[in-house]
Amino acid sequence: MQFSTEQLEFAAAVRKYCSRELASVADRDRVTDGGTLSNSPGVLRDLARQGWLGVSLPAEYGGGGAGFVDECVFIEAAARGLAPITGYFTGLTAAQTYLKWGTDSQRRTVVSNLVSGRLEAIALSEPGSGSDLASLRVTARRDGDRYLVDGQKTWISAAHVSEHILVLTREDTTGSKHQGMTLLMVPTDSAGLEIRPIDTMEPHTCNDVFFDEVEVPTSAVVGVAGDAWNQLMRGLAIERMIIAAMSIGAAQRAFDDVVAYCRERKQFGRAIGSFQALRHRMADLATNIDIARVFVYDVASKIDAGLEDDLAKESAMAKMRCTEVAKQTALEAMQMMGGYGYAREGGMESQVRRALAPPIYGGTNEIQREIIARHIGL
Ligand SMILES: Cc1cc2nc3c(=O)[nH]c(=O)nc-3n(C[C@H](O)[C@H](O)[C@H](O)COP(=O)(O)OP(=O)(O)OC[C@H]3O[C@@H](n4cnc5c(N)ncnc54)[C@H](O)[C@@H]3O)c2cc1C
Repeated sequence: MQFSTEQLEFAAAVRKYCSRELASVADRDRVTDGGTLSNSPGVLRDLARQGWLGVSLPAEYGGGGAGFVDECVFIEAAARGLAPITGYFTGLTAAQTYLKWGTDSQRRTVVSNLVSGRLEAIALSEPGSGSDLASLRVTARRDGDRYLVDGQKTWISAAHVSEHILVLTREDTTGSKHQGMTLLMVPTDSAGLEIRPIDTMEPHTCNDVFFDEVEVPTSAVVGVAGDAWNQLMRGLAIERMIIAAMSIGAAQRAFDDVVAYCRERKQFGRAIGSFQALRHRMADLATNIDIARVFVYDVASKIDAGLEDDLAKESAMAKMRCTEVAKQTALEAMQMMGGYGYAREGGMESQVRRALAPPIYGGTNEIQREIIARHIGL
């Protein structure tokens, strides 16, 4: 993949911002309330002001009107710069469904929120339905010109800082489990909606969301009532590629940091990076990252060429491989940084924590392997 001058300059500008504002653990603590926020309002505001949020969203709704490759350039650079904006990546995922199936007004609302640094969430998972999403139990009961939503969603990223949640509900139980689902755009300040944080190894990201007779008008339906499964399945390639691009940025950052450390740190009178045991592992990590990056941008450019619907296998491969490369790179980097890698001050421990969730969310990597196996006829 040959990047254009504009794309290279875009990546360099994002990296420059991040290295000016977010280089050290202390810098990142300052914008995340001591490392407790996964979304920094100040950073989101800065990025919005630069016009970097929503570069790939349609210009007619207020987005940047560029391609998905450009979006991946931004995602990779922001993840490499450790920008605390995970909710933006979630919002970008939610936006894909609104853009494909939503009304003009829904699209305009979501795009204008994202480009200005406000967030959007998506709620599919429930306590009893994770990988087996279609076994969901949150119900939407139609009552005249409104719906009443009841039940619980779980793991919902950024729900506590989002404007709306795109909620997958069960409207009709008479057909197969893949039929009768409806997507609703639910404002987070709706009466009867309660958001509770889930305590995890990372700063506050995930939430339980409870719906108690939450009322939304029928105009909140996204797409066609009862047809949500088909709609969601059409948006998965981009969701997986957003995670893949993020993971390449994360892997590259862990790699950059470990190389810098191994050049500096001396033992036995020489830089530890000169020991073959470490040099070869770093050579392997560099190879994994570069190969994964080529694949990500190849798939992204096919999305820009309008082939999104044919990329189920490739996007599953990209999501699976890039998240595993990022996880392996961070774990290896921690090991090669010795005790300093384990200390908060070293900045690698938070990168390790950050690398552990992506193989689980967006469809676990076991499920991605199932998808790939199905596409090769097994
Ligand atoms: C940090 C984070 C953020 C998240 N954000 C969101 C969000 O914003 N919105 C949202 O809706 N959800 C979100 N999720 C939920 C996420 O999508 C689910 O955790 C994921 O789909 C797995 O579901 P589960 O946790 O119920 O695991 P389960 O489905 O119970 O799976 C448990 C294990 O069994 C394996 N397994 C299950 N079925 C199969 C099978 N058929 N073949 C092989 N192995 C299988 C899985 O791979 C996994 O290893 C988030 C999760 C995390 C951790």
